[in-house]
Amino acid sequence: MSESYQHRARKRFGQNFLHDAGVIHRILRAIHAKEAEHLLEIGPGQGALTEGLLNSGAQLDVIELDKDLIPILQAKFGSQPRFRLNQGDALKFDFQRLEAQPRSLRVVGNLPYNISTPLIFHLLDNASLIRDMHFMLQKEVVERLAAGPGGGDWGRLSIMVQYHCRVEHLFNVGPGAFNPPPKVDSAIVRLVPHEVLPHPAKDHKLLERVVREAFNQRRKTLRNTLKALLPASEIEAAGVDGSLRPEQLDLAAFVRLADKLAEQIAPGEPNPE
Ligand code: SAM
Repeated sequence: MSESYQHRARKRFGQNFLHDAGVIHRILRAIHAKEAEHLLEIGPGQGALTEGLLNSGAQLDVIELDKDLIPILQAKFGSQPRFRLNQGDALKFDFQRLEAQPRSLRVVGNLPYNISTPLIFHLLDNASLIRDMHFMLQKEVVERLAAGPGGGDWGRLSIMVQYHCRVEHLFNVGPGAFNPPPKVDSAIVRLVPHEVLPHPAKDHKLLERVVREAFNQRRKTLRNTLKALLPASEIEAAGVDGSLRPEQLDLAAFVRLADKLAEQIAPGEPNPE
């Protein structure tokens, strides 16, 4: 890119641009995009990953919020017919607009850390369109996404994402790979939406509610934190020991609790918020 296109990184847009060619190559290799695939890059920035993604021969949609980056991206990639530039907020983006085939979209992003969790939930609302997702995130967030029960990282984020996806923590990336360097370590995660949910809940909203209530006070027993939702006898009837703390329960046990709650709510009755 020529010097005249120099862009000053903006903190409010979470701009830490990748400049380490080795890391960029490693990410592109992990994604391994191919011709005829449909990719979606969130936050292309100055195009550090975009170029390699386009070189794969795939069709590429990008969503970038910062209006000042649009002419830079347009100048670099606008002449390529497989490139489509969408200016706007990925958190509000209607993914149906992309007219993707079911389970076809491959989502990629070195994400601004402040929007990563809401963005993953927004994408999971469209999970049926998505084949896989590769994200650069704060390392701690990747550890929480990939955690298993029994430890401090296991919580609402791990459970709700693992309900929908298989999670793989691929590799870590140090601050020196970015300009400017962030204050935290980063990591690459792969999320693959399940074709068939391994533990489907009768009502997904009730699962969210049970998990939220249980982890609101993660030091307390389930009997205590779920009191307002389920009597101790119903917790036991779901095959769950009410004297446990939430971090000791696996996803299947949370789904059993949510299904018990669903049984308690008469048809037509609203989810008790
Ligand atoms: N992909 C580039 C790279 O690796 O060098 C840039 C990564 S930078 C961490 C995050 C990018 O996301 C920035 O270009 C920023 O402007 C953009 N961004 C921030 N918030 C966004 C949002 N809500 N929707 C879409 N893009 C956003």
